Amino acid sequence: MLRDSFGRVIDYLRVSVTDRCNFRCIYCMPEEGYPVAPKDELLTFEEIVRIVHIAADLGMSKIRLTGGEPLVRRDLPNLIERIASHPGIEDISLTTNAHLLQQLARPLRDAGLHRVNISLDTLDPDKFLQIARRGSLSKVLEGIEAAKESGLSPIKINCVLMKGVNDDEVADFARWTVREELHVRFIEVMPIRWNLDETEPFESLSALHGGRGLFQLRIQKDEGMLSDAQMRRMVIPFTAAKEAIEKELGPMTPHQIPTNGPAHTYKLNHALGTVGFISQVSWDLCERCNRLRLTADGQLRPCLMADGEVDLRTPLRTGSSDEDIRAIFEHVVAHKPERHYLAEGQKVQGRTMSQIGG
Ligand code: SAM
Ligand code: SF4
Repeated sequence: MLRDSFGRVIDYLRVSVTDRCNFRCIYCMPEEGYPVAPKDELLTFEEIVRIVHIAADLGMSKIRLTGGEPLVRRDLPNLIERIASHPGIEDISLTTNAHLLQQLARPLRDAGLHRVNISLDTLDPDKFLQIARRGSLSKVLEGIEAAKESGLSPIKINCVLMKGVNDDEVADFARWTVREELHVRFIEVMPIRWNLDETEPFESLSALHGGRGLFQLRIQKDEGMLSDAQMRRMVIPFTAAKEAIEKELGPMTPHQIPTNGPAHTYKLNHALGTVGFISQVSWDLCERCNRLRLTADGQLRPCLMADGEVDLRTPLRTGSSDEDIRAIFEHVVAHKPERHYLAEGQKVQGRTMSQIGG
């Protein structure tokens, strides 16, 4: 079992299988996307499977595949089947925007995937296009249906909550959990590119006015996405979101589900599903952090919000033994920071969510 210097058991590995994505969410990447790693720098399936199995032998029994958008990586069911073949793996999950899930849910389930977290920030088709800038809401909803039909469970819906963008929809999302066994979790928007400020030139995101539920935002001209300062201003206290839900739908009671993770979770009266709140920036999450991240280009990272990472790809490609790889895991766990220091002004210079694996 891996235990870090602060006594936390590290049993969860988030594996990014690609840094590419078919969406361009305004809080995640610019319209033209980020430069992606050359193909030969991405870990092959053989390399990912070897790392995951070594990690499982060290007690990392929970694996989540993410990206970029993991479903754009060809032949993903094959990777899952090979990961699942190891007896030490107890839980395999996937974080996806679900645009390609309709056709893949069944093969993924058959290959050994247990559950999915689906990112969806609005139930309004026009607003969807403003936020994701690609794809369509109807395809995502079809993906969610397919996930249900194929028996993936539990299904969590991750909604990044943004003031002035989708805060008018909290009760609509919560209402969904009454009639369907879905677990909606509101995620605090996180200023992941901490370094930009308001002084940069802006241009309008779109000329959309007046339509139902549409919002108007100005996007950093040079960066093509929300700025750090904008995201900070868009954070909504969860007490306010919870109150808005309860005002419309009645009181919620605390309710835990298996695989709850870091969410503070509640249930509406007679609901089949639950409503949760996750603040990635608050420290109580660090206290319970049990994870490492493996980037698509083979860097092992102890913390999303601190720049340090250790190269696994080179040792893998230069004949290192399993013992050598195990030693790298132990080294990274030993150097996992106690928490992030964003409130104290810590700057993160390096890579963004889609490049690390959110
Ligand atoms: N493409 C997949 C998806 O969207 O589910 C997986 C990768 S994405 C980077 C993982 C998660 O990070 C998504 O739920 C997304 O909403 C979240 N995310 C990305 N940028 C974020 C930000 N600035 N603040 C909060 N969450 C963010
Ligand atoms: Fe793509 Fe996920 Fe980032 Fe949206 S949040 S752009 S779907 S990687």
